[in-house]
Amino acid sequence: MVTGAPATMRQRREELTPMLAQYVDVAEAYDDCVVLFRVGDFYKAFCEAADEVARICELTRIEREDSTGTYTACGVPVDNAPKYLSRLLDADYRVAVADQVEDPEEASGLVDRAVTQVLTPGTVVEEELLTEGSNTYVACVARGEGDESDDGASDGTGDDSTYGLAYVDVSTGECAVTAGDAAAVDEELARVAPAELLTGPDVSSEVVDGVDCMTTARDPDSFAPDAARDRLAAYADPNRFDPSERVAAGALLAYAEYTQGDDGPLGYVQRVRRYDPRRSLRLDATALRGLELFENHVGSGRTLFETIDETRSALGRRRLRAWLRRPLVEQERIEARHDAVAAFTERTLVREDVRAALSAAYDLERLAGRVSRGRANARDLRSLHDTLAAVPEIREALDGVDALAGLRDDLDPLADLRETIDAAVVEDPPQEITEGGVIRAGYDADLDDVRETAREGREWVANLEAGERERTGIDNLEVGYNQVHGYYIEVTNGQLDKVPDDYTRRQTLKNSERFYTPELKRREDEILGAEERADAMEYELFVDLRETVAADSDRIAALADAIARVDALAALATVAVDRDYVRPEMGADGLHLTRSRHPVVEETAAEFVPNDAALPRGTVAVVTGPNMSGKSTYMRQVALAVVLAQAGSFVPADSARLPVVDRVFTRVGASDDIAGGESTFMREMRELTDVLHDATPDSLVLLDEVGRGTATTDGRAIARAAVEFLHDEAGATTLFATHYHGLTDLADEYDRVVNRHFAATERDGEVTFLHRIRGGPASSSYGVEVAQLAGIPESVVARAHDLVDADRDAVAVTDGDDGGNADSTPQRTLDEVATNGHTDPDDRAVANADTREVDDAVTALLADLRNLSLAETTPLEALNVLHDLQQRAEEAGSGTDTAGDAGERP
Ligand code: ADP
Repeated sequence: MVTGAPATMRQRREELTPMLAQYVDVAEAYDDCVVLFRVGDFYKAFCEAADEVARICELTRIEREDSTGTYTACGVPVDNAPKYLSRLLDADYRVAVADQVEDPEEASGLVDRAVTQVLTPGTVVEEELLTEGSNTYVACVARGEGDESDDGASDGTGDDSTYGLAYVDVSTGECAVTAGDAAAVDEELARVAPAELLTGPDVSSEVVDGVDCMTTARDPDSFAPDAARDRLAAYADPNRFDPSERVAAGALLAYAEYTQGDDGPLGYVQRVRRYDPRRSLRLDATALRGLELFENHVGSGRTLFETIDETRSALGRRRLRAWLRRPLVEQERIEARHDAVAAFTERTLVREDVRAALSAAYDLERLAGRVSRGRANARDLRSLHDTLAAVPEIREALDGVDALAGLRDDLDPLADLRETIDAAVVEDPPQEITEGGVIRAGYDADLDDVRETAREGREWVANLEAGERERTGIDNLEVGYNQVHGYYIEVTNGQLDKVPDDYTRRQTLKNSERFYTPELKRREDEILGAEERADAMEYELFVDLRETVAADSDRIAALADAIARVDALAALATVAVDRDYVRPEMGADGLHLTRSRHPVVEETAAEFVPNDAALPRGTVAVVTGPNMSGKSTYMRQVALAVVLAQAGSFVPADSARLPVVDRVFTRVGASDDIAGGESTFMREMRELTDVLHDATPDSLVLLDEVGRGTATTDGRAIARAAVEFLHDEAGATTLFATHYHGLTDLADEYDRVVNRHFAATERDGEVTFLHRIRGGPASSSYGVEVAQLAGIPESVVARAHDLVDADRDAVAVTDGDDGGNADSTPQRTLDEVATNGHTDPDDRAVANADTREVDDAVTALLADLRNLSLAETTPLEALNVLHDLQQRAEEAGSGTDTAGDAGERP
């Protein structure tokens, strides 16, 4: 990666032309960036930097030659810059853009250039480089003065010293700060999901393990407590913050300023919010991923956010995202949102009017950011005006609805601001603000005078043609204008003898001559002078207006906030009405859902089967059932009901009574991760550790097939111990899906452990999943039939059936008297035989009391058989393995106790 000044240029420094020397100077000052230099209509890079830009942007390099030799250059067209800049950012480059900071016409010699902007993945503000309705954050993790010595230990995670975490969205000015130990910061970072991360000099990499984004090294000086405190003081009272928070926020804001050209504090960062992550429902990275709130790891399908995003504006979209990311934990606040959603659901007309009006709302947060940065153009201000104009409509729609009165009052239409903008800016202004056509007539008397002068002059010119034709008798005489020569009177060659004495020749064409008169020249100067002056005046008036608007940032921010809330609430109501969601009753003792659905799956499934959930506080439900029967869908839908409810939404069910949950833990779909063998298991165990450490009686825990990453005996033991711990120690409400059918007998031993299972029916070897949850444990896994459904070739399926039969026959032979039972169940399957079909040969008397050991041995045997890699096994080894398997099979015994039913055991 080439950043800073290219080496070849540095070496030849003395010989470089003045402009290239200027490039080297700038590039050395921005040595972590690739520097682009404004030259004419291009942003250029040179030498090695040019090679790099050309490669990434797929542009051609140009060989240049001057007095000092040859060098390469590569130019990005200014008009198309965003497209190329985004490629550089995607390739994890920081880009410093150096613009001409003096008028080339006024410069004597080399035009002065300076970096006006540093673009980085986390700090971009260009509309073209941002995703609509989302946030782009840059975050910073740092330690405060003295934090380190708190405990003397700084060995990364596991230590309990305090870290500050700050993040800012440079496009909107949202800025927030918190502090916590290494684990808390890591978890919070996953929620913030920054695009770029700065870390303080004494922050070990483990602390920021969980985020996957570009990391930026900053000069350690910017993390110095005093420097950081001073920086923060420009935005907020530093005394409100802890030392670590001050350092994180101060260093972050210094960086944000640096990326915006280093001209002082960012005026649109109105507030540095200090928050406590525990005041929201905690969802760590694993939970966010497992529940597919914002990303969909299967690749197909949609996320929860996409499914419920019925917002009408970018403001609302960003807000709904934030609500889902940080559901509430205060019952009162949750219910206040439900009240508002309910009010919207009950009033179709209000909802529709509000949403129609919201469609006119521009992204006021980013717009206000551009205004404050001095980058807003006249169209932006018109957009602000149009948004303000929609506010009275929204207010009117909300009128008379008591539950929404507070919202309505928060919608300040900023009428004065709207009128000011409207009085100043024409309705459809041009993109450029330096070329006139922006300011309305009647707004400024001086501008009107100058424009009048220009207009009079043009009128005089317009009348000139007729007058001169009459005076000279040249009836095809024409008056015209061109950029180079200005106004002229054109006479064709045949009429030249009639040209009067006061005509001066200006230009000779093939068939005609062009002239001017002293008066025309005078008028021309007057018109052009007036127009130029008018443009300059318009620009100044516009900049003044923009500053007036910028001074109102806090009111605009408050309005943006209110619009965002209205939009998010109306969206939730729309979802509730369109999809039959119900208002949850909050504060219940346990989770009670009737006919609940999975909000995402129900949108795509041909026919979604609703299921109940009755989980009194602290219940551990062991969920069994074949693959594909709906276990993980069910677990997720229970968790999603909790997340939705606490975010303020209604939930997909016929009725819902829910507790306020402090944290949702999910370990679902671990098998989807593309990590091999031991590391998958390690990871699973690490995740389990978190759950066991941190789950409280107010937590909801979802565990899917814990222990499947290791040998069966160990896995089952771990799973069992985990259930016992969750039940006895953590007391968390838990859904525990497992393949270890042995675990279902925990229900006999523990009060709050219950069995649930998903059933399937089977006929003529065809299995149908009912997706219906029932009480009690499952009995079959229908392994072969699932294989068939998955499209395993018929011959293999048939062979597998044979093997199952053979296995059963073997069972019947070794344990003749019980064989009849097995035969009475014609569709027994491999897994069923494995898990239910055997008794202990050494002690028939206790066969029914404890068949688990046998189950385990057989399950282990089958697992080993499955895991055997034939590709890596020599024939001799295979024989050994076979021998070993045979021995183990004999040891495990081969009785059948009870026949499995067809999977419909209650
Ligand atoms: P498991 O976790 O038991 O292997 P899944 O929850 O992954 O099963 O579900 C398997 C398939 O069944 C999914 O593709 C899902 O779309 C479908 N499914 C699950 N639950 C239901 C339901 N209640 N109604 C309809 N289809 C469902």
